[in-house]
Amino acid sequence: MEADAIAKAQQAVLTRLAEIRKRIASACEEAGRDPQEVTLMAVTKTVDPALINTAVDAGVTVLGENRVQEYLSKRDAYRRNAEVQFIGHLQTNKVRQIIDGVSMIQSVDSLHLAEAIDRAAAAKGIVMPVLLEVNIGGELSKSGVDPDGLLPLLKAASAFPHITVRGLMTIPPPETDRNAQDAVFARMKALFDAASAEFPMDTLSMGMSGDYESAVRHGATVVRIGSALFGARVYPQPQN
Ligand SMILES: *Cc1c(COP(=O)(O)O)cnc(C)c1O
Repeated sequence: MEADAIAKAQQAVLTRLAEIRKRIASACEEAGRDPQEVTLMAVTKTVDPALINTAVDAGVTVLGENRVQEYLSKRDAYRRNAEVQFIGHLQTNKVRQIIDGVSMIQSVDSLHLAEAIDRAAAAKGIVMPVLLEVNIGGELSKSGVDPDGLLPLLKAASAFPHITVRGLMTIPPPETDRNAQDAVFARMKALFDAASAEFPMDTLSMGMSGDYESAVRHGATVVRIGSALFGARVYPQPQN
């Protein structure tokens, strides 16, 4: 980007960030929650590091990465004072490439992946915090373990010595209707509470640009926000 365009885009990020914080605060107020309980994760896919750093300089403490290659190619340009968590679909053969570059993996949806993370973490002598990704939207969702499969996966994943299950994550199908959003997040929170009674957990990652206020009202501790913070994503055009 040209310097002018960057400066303008950086200003826009600051304006959007202020708006998001305000909305999170009012959603918390509606639900009788302390805004300190909610972490705003900035989701960085396709975003220029200059804009990511603007968000970090303005106090964003957690970045969310979807793609291993994209993260590895951008990470050197990032400020060091934000932690990076992995939120995208992760192939077991790529775990080793990011195991010591992230502070959490939010997208564990199979025993096979949990096992690969445990093994890679063991090799580095670390314990990796993870979230289990739940498919709360039924067949409209593309990823995550079915609610029926959650407890067995939780039990098995909790037994690995080099991962620690901190909570649950979900990507519900996009809903524009507030009642529909509320229903999905209420279902997710009930599942989280029931599972937490057996396996204590402290992190519930749900809510994105289009629905984070509903997620916050229903107990999200992390909201993952991309386009509402950085603007619409521009994917590179395929070369032909
Ligand atoms: C892209 C992405 C987000 C952010 O999406 P927006 O709608 O742009 O806020 C959140 N979570 C995951 C897993 C994502 O891939």
